[in-house]
Amino acid sequence: MTKYVYSFGSKKTDGRADMKNLLGGKGANLAEMSLLGIPVPAGFTITTDCCNDCFFNKSRFPQGMEEQVQKALKAVENEMGMKYGDPDNCLLISCRSGARSSMPGMMETVLNIGLCSRTIPGLIKRTGNERFVYDSYRRLITMYSDVVMEKAEGIEPQEGKGIRAQLERIMDELKKSKGYKNDTELTVSDLKYLCSEYTKKIKQVLGSPFPDDHMKQLWGGIGAVFKSWNGKKAAAYRRIEGIPDSWGTATNVQAMVFGNMGETSATGVAFTRNPATGENKFYGEWLPNAQGEDVVAGIRTPNPINEATKMEQNRHLPSLEKAMPKLYKQLHEIERKLEKHYSDMQDIEFTIQEGKLYMLQTRVGKRTGTAALNMAMDMLKEKLINEPAAVMRLKPEQLDELLHPIVDPAAEKNAAIIARGLPAGPGGANGHIVFKAEDAVEWEKKGKKVILVREETNPEDVAGMRAAEGILTARGGMTSHAALVARGWGKCCIVGAGAIHVDSISKKMTVNGKTYREGDVLTLNGTKGYVYEGRLNMIDATENVNFKAFMKLVDRQRRLGVRANADTPADAATARNFGAEGIGLFRTEHMFYGENSEKPLFLLRQMILSSTLEERKSALDKLFPHVKSNIKATMKVMQGLPVTFRLLDPPLHEFIPQDEPQQKELAESLGIDVKEVVRRGELLHEVNPMMGHRGVRLGITYPEVSEMQIRAIFEAAAELIKEKIKAMPEIMIPVTCDVNEIKVQKKIIERNYKEVITKFNLKKIDYLTGTMIEIPRACLLADKMAEEAQFFSFGTNDLTQMGFGFSRDDIGAFLPGYLDKKILKADPFQTIDQEGIGQLIEMGVTKGRSTKKDLKVGICGEQGGEPASVKFCFKVGLNYVSCSPYRVPIARLAAAQASIEGAAVSKKPVKKAPSKKKAAAKKK
Ligand code: PEP
Ligand code: MG
Repeated sequence: MTKYVYSFGSKKTDGRADMKNLLGGKGANLAEMSLLGIPVPAGFTITTDCCNDCFFNKSRFPQGMEEQVQKALKAVENEMGMKYGDPDNCLLISCRSGARSSMPGMMETVLNIGLCSRTIPGLIKRTGNERFVYDSYRRLITMYSDVVMEKAEGIEPQEGKGIRAQLERIMDELKKSKGYKNDTELTVSDLKYLCSEYTKKIKQVLGSPFPDDHMKQLWGGIGAVFKSWNGKKAAAYRRIEGIPDSWGTATNVQAMVFGNMGETSATGVAFTRNPATGENKFYGEWLPNAQGEDVVAGIRTPNPINEATKMEQNRHLPSLEKAMPKLYKQLHEIERKLEKHYSDMQDIEFTIQEGKLYMLQTRVGKRTGTAALNMAMDMLKEKLINEPAAVMRLKPEQLDELLHPIVDPAAEKNAAIIARGLPAGPGGANGHIVFKAEDAVEWEKKGKKVILVREETNPEDVAGMRAAEGILTARGGMTSHAALVARGWGKCCIVGAGAIHVDSISKKMTVNGKTYREGDVLTLNGTKGYVYEGRLNMIDATENVNFKAFMKLVDRQRRLGVRANADTPADAATARNFGAEGIGLFRTEHMFYGENSEKPLFLLRQMILSSTLEERKSALDKLFPHVKSNIKATMKVMQGLPVTFRLLDPPLHEFIPQDEPQQKELAESLGIDVKEVVRRGELLHEVNPMMGHRGVRLGITYPEVSEMQIRAIFEAAAELIKEKIKAMPEIMIPVTCDVNEIKVQKKIIERNYKEVITKFNLKKIDYLTGTMIEIPRACLLADKMAEEAQFFSFGTNDLTQMGFGFSRDDIGAFLPGYLDKKILKADPFQTIDQEGIGQLIEMGVTKGRSTKKDLKVGICGEQGGEPASVKFCFKVGLNYVSCSPYRVPIARLAAAQASIEGAAVSKKPVKKAPSKKKAAAKKK
């Protein structure tokens, strides 16, 4: 016979902590606490298998389960010294849900089960507290009718017509007529009146009476908790969190204990360490004479648990330590024991019933990034955990919090979101809005903090973007220009906030009918993509002393390389500071926008608008020293670490000036008419520039453009070598789709290499030649590409664009709909689409290495700093990931965790299952 029911309590416990799949998190931990000798109200857990069998069985309990429940209930009665349904000494129970992973608030709970006309008088007599009994009864009727009689029956009332809402209205009306503010003012006769009105209403609305029978209540409660697994809320949550429907929930049936039985009773919630800061102090809140929901619902201001953690706001309130010193001591000992046992910070719930302490729950507590870091390092020092465990304690995303100033979560809680966009650059920012890049620069010069708001950004906005605290655009995706640049600078940025209509000419924007003008203040949460009106408080993410030590641990576990995408000496320095082991992508074109780029940009424009080889060569000659000095400065910062220089990639028309004074200046320098400048610019216009004359295609049409860059790279390296500074350039050819493209460019590379070596009288320069892999055809022919390339770098921005056929700059119009309708699980420009694009990557790696066993393979698309993508890259055997400098620590952590998880997975098959004997010994 299948065992469906597992008891827990001081006398008999069948389960344990590692049985979460069968007993759910709550049930497994209640069993574990019982095994540890911690006082837990006796009860039993009905398994997740039973839940699944019920669904299979058309909502009927499986055979044998009811007898097992009856038997377990007997054991609870014996332990608690009360009897379920007994008129004189009745036991009340709760039915609580508990899945294998926590789904907070998504499933149902019914408390105070067993109260009925048969048991009420005896309970009043025993407790001498009529108000307590009727208050409990009122709560039972509300919960039961809502959870068991309505939700579990699949009734879907209209908004505001649900039974709970209707009952609450009766209570509100009564409170109003009596002039009460709080529920606590309700008298015994009020509560009696409510209970009788409630039962009438239930009959009238739901057509059946509230069951005045303790056994009916018990089975109803158990069945309803199981059914709540398929409730709308729970099902939707599972979709989002990727929790399989097949897991099911367990039901925990447990003896009720009451914290509201008078002044020697209390209830509380606590953490074994401070979840906000990580400080190693027992931290929590409690209330005398109250039920658990009163603490969390904020109806009363809770008291601090001890003297050591009192704050300004609650200094005047009594601590549990002072009010009930003996019980506090016992609780303190228990929380120490639990933390030690689980080797992690615990979030616990307790109730004190007439001077006796009971633990109702323990689970691993949620925490902020700062707290996670501090706790991991402290627990390592305390030898509570080992190094790999410490590295697993921080979610990579949590590092963001430590690296950027953030919007104060407390301020955010009370603020209304006016628009949402894509969280392109993390952290927070507030400031005056401006609508033009030059205005951002002007305002910043005057010492004002600004947010640059644009329909979308283009290279000409860069100075304004640099000057702004944050960037907000109405269009664009995660890999749009604004996002790339902002992330590179660690700047807060939200793109694709579709609700915003920008009118940069009149310097205003409208959002849902409201207009904001230049100078108005907004706050951005770039980590979430939320826009707020006004100035919200910011928290300074000051550098934590533990951060560096933690990152050392991370690097000891890591096997995947981490580089940065950087294209200026300043960004390179930031990247090194964050631990980058090289530059995986230096976008040459970024040299032409940004600080001090007016001159090189002008020369580039001259080159682009040249119509003859002669004109072009003359412009290239003038451009050469600028390009070389930029390259040299970056390599110098990197001190011999590899730097991957990518040859010019973007469509040239992006650089053509649109405003008249600049067109005039160019015309003069080229000795042509302005009209001719405009005409030449128009000739460069492309219908589909992303698939147009860009990348290696430029170098095929204009070999002299490649030649100038290649020469600059080699000469810069040669000069550094002469200055006794190590240099390790890697030349990368973008947007290739055929090996012959590489061959053509390689000829230029090899010729220039020889010439430079001779010119500088050097024996050699260490360098590599490789290619981006960012077109599906390049993946399909990767074995051929590897014949000529020494390394591959997956450009997953373009690979995703071309693999999906989604324009990376236009996804704002349709991708949100795809995500809302669950057509796609995630934005593939943010996290690698492992199912589809992932296949292309794996194929590229396998085919490439079939030709060249030691082919070095990396990734430099924006996903390279996203934790799930980093883990995928490790799994498919990449040598390194490359991402924006501020994401380097995140990628390092994700990479280390991938190694640790990989080691655990590879060990799994060889690990023997514990013998029955051992498991039994452990149980004891
Ligand atoms: C890419 O396509 O992934 C890439 C890194 O290149 P870019 O974003 O410059 O096109
Ligand atoms: Mg690309």
